[in-house]
Amino acid sequence: MVDLQTQYQRIKQDIDTGIQEVIESAAFIKGPKVAAFQEHLEQYTGAKHVIPVGNGTDALQIALMGLGLKPGDEVITPTFTFIATAEVVALLGLTPVVVDVDWETMNMDIEAVRRAITPHTKAIVPVHLFGQCAEMEALMALAKEHGLYVVEDACQAIGAKYTFSNGETRQAGTIGHIGCTSFFPSKNLGCYGDGGAIFTNDDELAARMRAIANHGMVVRYHHDSVGVNSRLDSIQAAVLDAKLPHLDEYIAARQRAAAYYDAAFAGNDKLLVPGRQSRSTHVFHQYTLRVVGADRDKLREGLAEKGIPAMIYYPIPLHQQKAYLDPRYKDGDFPVAERLAECVLSLPMHTELDEEQLHYITSNVLALI
Ligand SMILES: *Cc1c(COP(=O)(O)O)cnc(C)c1O
Repeated sequence: MVDLQTQYQRIKQDIDTGIQEVIESAAFIKGPKVAAFQEHLEQYTGAKHVIPVGNGTDALQIALMGLGLKPGDEVITPTFTFIATAEVVALLGLTPVVVDVDWETMNMDIEAVRRAITPHTKAIVPVHLFGQCAEMEALMALAKEHGLYVVEDACQAIGAKYTFSNGETRQAGTIGHIGCTSFFPSKNLGCYGDGGAIFTNDDELAARMRAIANHGMVVRYHHDSVGVNSRLDSIQAAVLDAKLPHLDEYIAARQRAAAYYDAAFAGNDKLLVPGRQSRSTHVFHQYTLRVVGADRDKLREGLAEKGIPAMIYYPIPLHQQKAYLDPRYKDGDFPVAERLAECVLSLPMHTELDEEQLHYITSNVLALI
């Protein structure tokens, strides 16, 4: 699905030098590499504050802790996503309220969010699934109308750009009150282990979340709130700082691969190419087909026989996951998500796909359906 070795070979010198510097300085935790990467990511994203943390799941958890939510508060999130989005809500004793998604973009359905708002709702966590932003203009307006926080799960969408109707453009993760991202190795900006970051333009929230990520501590050994221990380590920051200058090229390479896939499958009535959100660019963390007139699982097996990996993101919506079963929800309540779970298939997507590989993948897909 990804080719991180070839990508590494292209920037080996910068990565190796960066890692070597950390080892020689022995500043493994909160070293100058972390501060430098933080500053460069603030410049890249336009976020006033970037808070580096241990991973994307921690980022989401610290964001919700920073908002001071209380057990019983409701947090609305899509049912078609990676589990982390709802996991942290549940871990904090908050109540996850799930909503359906849009068939074309596979992102949160904003009208469904509107219907799910109750007097207990405190926050909305949109997920910019597969690399394009949810419908943020409508969502921010809805949140404002009801006095709700918005925490963007931008783990798959770093670098995606959203343009508002007034012409203003903002990056994924910098539109809501807080944004979260992950540097898991296969993410669009991936490190060589675990990593994540929180974005916010709010000084007070930033100070609170920085303290929470550091044991609730501002002054050393004075703990003002219950916190966690979550940091991006210096070696990972060195890797990320070497890769960040290439992020735009990486996005362009993914978009070229997606355009090749789109063209190859255009007009095929058994395969629906990913629908596009009109206001967002798509950075293609995943290229996800909807297989509607053929057997998805047979196609996947056939591709595997040809040495082509293909993955199902995600096979089970949140409301049907064993750990999250809830009497409020039953099968059939979220028909779009349930249908997507049965028909989605993600093809190889990374920065190193060349024309020969793309031809091999697409011709095999077409021969198998
Ligand atoms: C990857 C991912 C996360 C979690 O990131 P980790 O760094 O693996 O903790 C959360 N949400 C979404 C949508 C993701 O894709």
